[in-house]
Parts: sequence; C-alpha cells; structure tokens
Amino acid sequence: MSELSFAELGLDPAVLEAVSAIGYETPTPIQAQCIPALIAGKHLLGVAQTGTGKTAAFALPLLSRIDASVSEPQILVLAPTRELAIQVAEAFTSYASKFRHFHVLPIYGGQDFYPQIKGLKRGAQVIVGTPGRMLDHLRKGTLKLGNLKALVLDEADEMLRMGFIDDVEAILAKTPENCQRALFSATMPPQIKKVAQTYLRDAVEVKIESETRTVERISQYVLPVYAERKLDALTRILEVEPIEGAIIFVRTKAETTLLAEKLGARGHAVAPLNGDLNQRQREQTVEDLKRGKKDIIVATDVAARGLDVPRITHVINYDVPYDTEAYIHRVGRTGRAGREGKAILLVTPRERSWLRTLERATNSPMMPYELPSPVELKKMREEQFETQLMGFAEDKKLAKSMALLDEIAERNEMDIAMVAGALACWMEAMQPGSLPLEQPEALPVVSATPPPRRDRKGGRPGEFRKGPPKGGYKGRSKPGGSGTRGKPPGKGGKPAGKRPPRQSDAKR
Ligand code: AMP
Repeated sequence: MSELSFAELGLDPAVLEAVSAIGYETPTPIQAQCIPALIAGKHLLGVAQTGTGKTAAFALPLLSRIDASVSEPQILVLAPTRELAIQVAEAFTSYASKFRHFHVLPIYGGQDFYPQIKGLKRGAQVIVGTPGRMLDHLRKGTLKLGNLKALVLDEADEMLRMGFIDDVEAILAKTPENCQRALFSATMPPQIKKVAQTYLRDAVEVKIESETRTVERISQYVLPVYAERKLDALTRILEVEPIEGAIIFVRTKAETTLLAEKLGARGHAVAPLNGDLNQRQREQTVEDLKRGKKDIIVATDVAARGLDVPRITHVINYDVPYDTEAYIHRVGRTGRAGREGKAILLVTPRERSWLRTLERATNSPMMPYELPSPVELKKMREEQFETQLMGFAEDKKLAKSMALLDEIAERNEMDIAMVAGALACWMEAMQPGSLPLEQPEALPVVSATPPPRRDRKGGRPGEFRKGPPKGGYKGRSKPGGSGTRGKPPGKGGKPAGKRPPRQSDAKR
C-alpha cells in the first residue's frame, strides 16, 4: 500500500469526503501514481487489471476536475461489457455522492433506447457505456460531447478482443481535441499501443511492477465464488479448516467491523483490526490473537502491516489484494517461525485473471480449494455433535440428570431415547442450528477458468448482476449480505473439536 494519504493527493473536498465515507484507508499503488497525474490534467496510460483499484484511480481525479454544477456530459468512460459499465457507474455514483444534482448514466447495448435518451435529455455529468451503443447515440445526436473534459478507455485490451476497436476509434475521433484521455489495459497489444500513440501523446505511463518472490511453506488455494456468496463460503471454510489462528483480509475499515460482527454472531472469537483503532487498541487486538483470546482477526492491509503471530495457520483473502506486493505481504502473515501455513483466496468471476498474475508473482501454483459436499458437511457436523455430546458423558451432574430423565420416562411411559430426543429438540429450540438435522445447501460452483468469449451486445455469460434503475443512478447503492446457519455451540460458546483433515487435504 502507498505511504501517501488521499488528503495529500489534491482531490476535491467533496470527493475526499465521499472516499472517507466509503472507508478507503489509503490509496492503492495504482491510485497513488495515477491520481496526481490525472489531477494535473495529463493523459495517462495505465497497465492494470480489475482489483487494483483502477476505477477510483481515474474516477476520483477526473471528478475533482469537472464543474459538477454543469449538467452535461463531462466524463465519458468506455467499457467492454454491460457488467463493467454498470460497475463503473456505481463506483462513480458513490465517489460523487457529496455533489448535489449529480447524475451518472450507464449506457449499453441490449437495453431500450428510450430510458437512455430520457437520461441523456435530463442531463448527466458522467456517461459510462459500451462502445457500440455510445456510437449509436453519437450518430443519432442524442449524445453530445461539446463539453467533454475527459475520456477513459477501461479494459482496452478486452474491447479489442471483443472487436470494438473500430467503434472506440470512431468515438475517440469525435471527442474534443483538448479533452484529457486515460487508457487502462491489463496487457498492451500492438493495436492498443497504436491507439495510445495516436490519441494519448505524451501520456504518463503507470505500471505496477512487482518482483517474483517465492512464498515458502505456504500452500496457496483459490476458491472461485460469486460475490454475494462470499460470506457463505467463508463460513464453511472456517467450519472445516483446522484453524489455530487466522487473519482475514478485506478492503475497507468498515468491512473489517462488519465481517467481524457477522463472524462473532456465528460463534467465532474474532476482532477487527483497522486504521481507526488507536495504537493501544491495535496492540491489544494482536496480543489477544497471540494469547488465543481471539482466533480470527479481520484486517485491512495497512493495519496488518508487519504482523508477526506464529499461531496464524491460515490467511484468508476474502477480497482480492490490490497488487501482487500486497498479496505476498498478506500470505506472509502465516508460515511464520518455521511453521506451515495455508492461504485461501476467494475470487469472484470478474477477478479470475488475478490467478495467473499471482501465480507468476509467487512462482507457485494455486490449488483449487474444495469445499466439502453437503453430504460430507452433514456427516462432519454429526460427528462434531457426537464428540460434543460425549464430552458430557463424564459430567459430574450426569448421574442426577439420568435419574431425573428415568423418572420422567417411567411416569410418561416413554422410551428413554424419546426423552433424549425431546431434550435435543429443546436444545435446538434454545439455540437453532445446534442439532445437525438438515443437509446444508450446496454452494453454487463457479468455474476457475476464465469465461468464454462474450458476444458483442450481450453480457458476460456466468455473471449475473441486477441492472441499474431506469435513467441512471442517483445516490449510493450497496449490495446486501447473506446469512448462514449458526455453529453448534461447544463448552464456553466455542466450537469443540475441529474436523480431522479431509482426505483431499492430505493429498495436497
Ligand atoms: P477495481 O480495481 O477498480 O475494480 O476496484 C476493486 C475494488 O477495490 C472495488 O471494490 C473498490 O471499491 C475497492 N477499492 C478501490 N480503491 C480502494 C482503496 N483505496 N481502499 C480500499 N478499497 C478500494
């Protein structure tokens, strides 16, 4: 992570306020490099992929340079897919949330023209869209670029791969001469270089370099999962992994607290670790992890810098890191003091390209993480329940309890198994989820390989997202979380006994 703070980057106060409300702690490396160049009005060529924080790297400075009170298109972003256009529009909406009367309009193929034309007539400062539809509007005269201050080509290599490059060039040719331009691409094929040479002369080039470093003694796993099922996946990982201590990495301070609360409610001894805590509180949290008062810490990169706790057996990357440096630092929090460590990365379909990047950077392969099947999981829960039950077989109150239940059984002419069953049901009523009666649901599987080619107008298969409200966004939007079942309680509220390693683990 960067040493600079957002406040030092020269952003508009309203943009800065929005960033702080979202909870970003520090600029990511790509942001630290791009923001000053774009604030200075320079063209920019960025080699970066999704997950580096590249959207904010261009959105924050460009929003800081426009006149928010003028309701005409001032920033135009071209994206290869409808999904990315919506995602970028959502990001812009949240970064511009402190501006008044501000509109961000996503425009893409496959949607009716009418709401788009209505949105354009009403006026929007930022337009984000796919090239084909954008060109349609330019040709119809429904989109006018006379006041355009900046143009961004996002995922330029993807636009090339999907055959959009001619449309992109046609749009570029229609933008005002003095318009600022930024191009982001994960790779730089010759055609993209050519576009850059023609339209982004003297651009500042930003590339996040990273050395290859081996991560010894750490086995790396990856679990592809839909964004909205991440919490379910994490809950299962924590249930089945033989964890002594774990650190879970998320992106924002707010997320550390939120996730820690959710895991706490599921019976884990967990604490957040973020930059909002003062030095003493941070030290206390780390001390609690060292001494076993806490087993899990949910942290941001900044807060976990240099953390050295030998009990950490697992690093879980709940959110992908911003760059390979951050990843290497994260996984290095385990495998300390000569021990073995396990790192598990959750990736959403959009972030799958990270896998190869991280494998290259660490010079070691990522193994697919296998969650247990519902049948395996139910069996495991039954075994755990049995272990817990047997733990009370020598309890000093056992004799008296047996006498009491015998009497009840006799009085009511019941089998003793029936009385035990009723007692178990009572326990379940008191603490739902403590009896392993139901088979857990299977989590939907996401393939680890990149998705097939997309068609020109449609979305990316295998990725589902709700469309935006008609006529664009106003105000912030946030996806909701999802719930999972609770953990069976053990003595002292902590789960008793971890599962023995599964066969598939032993093989790895
Ligand atoms: P992107 O690479 O633009 O797709 O961004 C990936 C994710 O990183 C998004 O969920 C952003 O909200 C998040 N993000 C961007 N910048 C920061 C930051 N400075 N701190 C924390 N999270 C960030």
